[in-house]
Amino acid sequence: MHHIVAVRDTNNHETRVALTPVVCKKLVDLGMQVTLEAGFGERLHLTDSAYHDVGVTLNARAEVLAAAGVLVSLHPPAQDDLAQLPEGAAVASFLDPFRQADLIKYLASNKLSALAMELIPRSTYAQKMDALSSQASLAGYAAVIGAADRINKALPMMTTPAGTIAPARVFVVGVGVAGLQAIATAKRLGARVEAYDTRPVVAEQVASLGAKFVSIDVGETGQTAQGYAKALTDEQLAKQRAQMAKHCANADIIITTAQLFGRPAPRIITAEMVAGMKPGSIIVDLAASTGGNVEGSKADEDVVVDGVTIVGFVNFPGTVARDASQMYASNIASLLEHLWDKESKTITFNLEDDITQGTLLTHQGEIRDERVREAVNG
Ligand code: NAD
Repeated sequence: MHHIVAVRDTNNHETRVALTPVVCKKLVDLGMQVTLEAGFGERLHLTDSAYHDVGVTLNARAEVLAAAGVLVSLHPPAQDDLAQLPEGAAVASFLDPFRQADLIKYLASNKLSALAMELIPRSTYAQKMDALSSQASLAGYAAVIGAADRINKALPMMTTPAGTIAPARVFVVGVGVAGLQAIATAKRLGARVEAYDTRPVVAEQVASLGAKFVSIDVGETGQTAQGYAKALTDEQLAKQRAQMAKHCANADIIITTAQLFGRPAPRIITAEMVAGMKPGSIIVDLAASTGGNVEGSKADEDVVVDGVTIVGFVNFPGTVARDASQMYASNIASLLEHLWDKESKTITFNLEDDITQGTLLTHQGEIRDERVREAVNG
């Protein structure tokens, strides 16, 4: 298995690509053969010759799929494409494993090996492969830019002969990778920033970015061994909402990023809290695609409620597609390099290795991750 392939994304709203010429060169230099569908990088103005120049072969879609050792993708591949892969081929992609039951069953029953980018372990060594984090950090940045673009107010304080403009107040809810980058971006733009997370360990990080951590006592919270938040009880969530309401009412911009690994996002901001905000305020719900942190948010729509715009746009990393593509491709290349056996010049799955163990979701007909197996079997 030394042949790495990728085909054009059929989703025309996607602006990113999964492999860039810089990263393809690295794979070719390692000894891998790389074949892409002709026109692969077009949406990012990356020409076929830019790929060809670094040793990539360009071909028609059907030929590319038929030659696959590993099919690389950003989004879960369509079954029509998977059906054209040779026996025993592998897929490396975001697979949305907790919600794509049919796809995961298909991969397993057709004995395709699947590397799910969502399941890259959160270890120091695997950080360079962590595509959830690379895309989340750009999403946090782009969410603030998106909000600044929509709001009818400047973010920094400005003292002018015509008067002083007060800085915008930004409230970031959920301070993981996306939240931290949102705080840093809003601070750079001159806003006054508050932030909250159920994991009190992040208070220090918030302070180090010059923002104010909002302390809310909801009792015992916690995090998993991988650093993900544990779900709150209904009672704890009610307490959180009650104490957050005044911070929401004061905010010009709210960015919500709260996620629970493998579960729907927690519903944190109620319609009542939205109604308490000033008309013209903006809420960006970065969890819109996993159920939403904000009541009334809709994936990929701007919804206006009582003058407050709730932004449910999903592909914020795609607004900075050049950087997002480079980072994703680099994450993929680091994973492939890790799996590359230099002696035999092939991708190998060593099930004793932590990264392979965690990421290899389907292999030889089996769904290997217990949590996903439970989700798939309902
Ligand atoms: P995530 O995307 O799963 O969630 C985003 C944030 O939402 C988290 O900080 C979570 O605590 C928070 N959250 C959940 N429920 C909430 C609620 N009801 N109210 C407010 N906030 C809520 O998390 P993430 O961005 O992937 O990161 C989680 C942690 O893991 C971070 O501390 C991050 O630095 C760490 N991390 C470590 C590695 C590594 O070691 N390789 C890699 C990535 C992230």
